[in-house]
Order: sequence, then structure tokens, then C-alpha cells
Amino acid sequence: MSLLTVNALSFAVHNKTILDGLDLALTEQEIHALLGANGTGKSTLAYLIMGCADYQLTAGEIRFQDQIINNLPLHERAQLGITMTWQEPARFEGLRVEDYLTLNKATTDPSYCLQRVGLQPELYLQRAVDKTLSGGERKRIELASVLALHPRLAILDEPESGIDMLSLQEIIDVIQTMKQSGTTILLITHRQEIARIADRASYLCGGKIVVTGDPDIVAEQYRTRRCLVCDGKVCRA
Ligand code: ADP
Ligand code: MG
Repeated sequence: MSLLTVNALSFAVHNKTILDGLDLALTEQEIHALLGANGTGKSTLAYLIMGCADYQLTAGEIRFQDQIINNLPLHERAQLGITMTWQEPARFEGLRVEDYLTLNKATTDPSYCLQRVGLQPELYLQRAVDKTLSGGERKRIELASVLALHPRLAILDEPESGIDMLSLQEIIDVIQTMKQSGTTILLITHRQEIARIADRASYLCGGKIVVTGDPDIVAEQYRTRRCLVCDGKVCRA
């Protein structure tokens, strides 16, 4: 059964079309990798699904289970169980890591969640989620917050970027733990090794998903830029 269905979604900003009739369906508890060259609109799609301010569809529909959510504000989508981690992780001045990890009735032990992302709880629980943390530390704390929350749908926007000290295998283990706890994952990544742990993968080019299928095959197409639609003219980085 589909948890999230995106139908014929279009989005333009300053008269520039970014997404142009995009279709995507995520099934319950799958890891679905989203691949595409820089600037093709992967993060934009994430913001549209999350309902970020200033991201209004120009056409199409986003359905979460049985409900059309296009017009719901971000916090209502969060209440439905949708969450995301950002390509540039967020900062919350004044909020302690422990509070951040126990927001929204999160039930998993915050110390456990920090350990899973390679951070020692005794060194981090009392720190503020602000600019005194490095980008990589904030990225890991965001992943820990998804573990703590176990949402219905987690959109992970390039979880590998900036996490220099956390190995790819550790990131993969964390994502698989999320899946085991019942979370469906839309996994935006540039790393083939990460894409290959997905159940399915989709390739974004020219504002549309041009292929969905076996992650090994889609990742190889991405690597060689053998786009079936544009023959590499649009999506060759
Ligand atoms: P990706 O995540 O695939 O690298 P993005 O979704 O970040 O791509 O961006 C897609 C395109 O949309 C880029 O060309 C980017 O410059 C443009 N874009 C995104 N948001 C805005 C905005 N608010 N104003 C102008 N252009 C934007
Ligand atoms: Mg992006």
C-alpha cells in the first residue's frame, strides 16, 4: 500500500519550472532512494512534501495515506508523522540536544539515539543545537532525532554530506534501524553505496521521475548519466 503518493506535481519559482509533472509513490516501510544531478530539484521535492513555507505546488497533488496534504502547513504534516533532515542541518538557538531529542513525544532513549550516530551522550546531551556544533555534529544529531521520533515517513536529504567521521556503513546501519522501526524513508543521496541499500530507486531529470526500479540498475544509470529520457543532455552534471 502507498504511504505517500505524488501525482503530476509541478513547481516553479520566479517563472522557472523546477518540477514538471512529477509522479512518485512510496510504499509502507520501504527505503526509496532519489537520485539526480545537482540542481535537478531533489531538495525542492523534499520541501514540497514537508510543506515548507514558500513551497506551494503550481499543479498536482500530494497524498499521504488517504489524505490530500497539499494545503496543510508544515506542523500539521509533522503531526501526521512526516519529518525530514536537511541538506544543511537546522540550528535551534537555546534548545539543548536532550530537549531536541525528546520533542514531539519521542519515546526512544536519547542516549541510545546519540550512541547510534557515533556521539557520546555525556558530551552532547546538554549542548545547545546551535552554531557551537559543527555541521557534521548537527547532521548526526538530526539523524538521532529521526531515530528518537520513529516517524511514518522520513525524508533524508543527503545524510552523508558533512558527516566526515561517521562512516558510510554507520549511516547505512542507522537508516536500516529506522526502517526496522517502521519508518518509510525517502533517501536523497549522491552515494551509490547508500542508494544500493534501498528497496527501490528513482531518478529525477528534467523535472520528472524518469525511471523507478532496482537500485543497482538506477544507481548505475546515475553513475554513467545514461538517462533514458534526455540521453545525458539535461542531467549530465
Ligand atoms: P537539488 O537538491 O537536486 O540539487 P534543488 O532542489 O536545491 O536541487 O534546486 C533545484 C533548482 O531550483 C536549482 O536550479 C535551484 O537554483 C532552484 N531553486 C530552488 N529554490 C529556489 C528559490 N527559492 N529561488 C530560486 N531558485 C530556486
Ligand atoms: Mg539538494
